[in-house]
Amino acid sequence: MQIRGIREELLEMLLAMGKSQHPCEFLAILKEEEGVVSDLELVPGTISRLESASFSPFMLPLDTHVAGSAHSHPNGVLSPSSADLRFFSSIGRYHLIIGSPYDRRSWKCFTADGTPWAMEVIA
Ligand SMILES: [Zn+2]
Repeated sequence: MQIRGIREELLEMLLAMGKSQHPCEFLAILKEEEGVVSDLELVPGTISRLESASFSPFMLPLDTHVAGSAHSHPNGVLSPSSADLRFFSSIGRYHLIIGSPYDRRSWKCFTADGTPWAMEVIA
């Protein structure tokens, strides 16, 4: 499935979630519908704590509409850590990192190997 972009409302929701969890991280699975990332799923067993959100791969939904993931970096650094890269390659193809101050420019998308990806925002 080719992903064309992310729905604007979902991006707004992710930014709001980052803000509400700050200074902890959150982690969500992104789901696509007809090529647009338009929904998220919070994973049972997600542990949200300072500087590291994590969950067991066994808790991941078995769902073909999984597009990737989104998580926050409360320190505002919009680049994946080495742990992030290991996680990215385990699920989906597109991965958003949301950072403080959680405004419309406080996010970046990466492909599973950590390459920046210009994800389009679809209103
Ligand atoms: Zn991270």
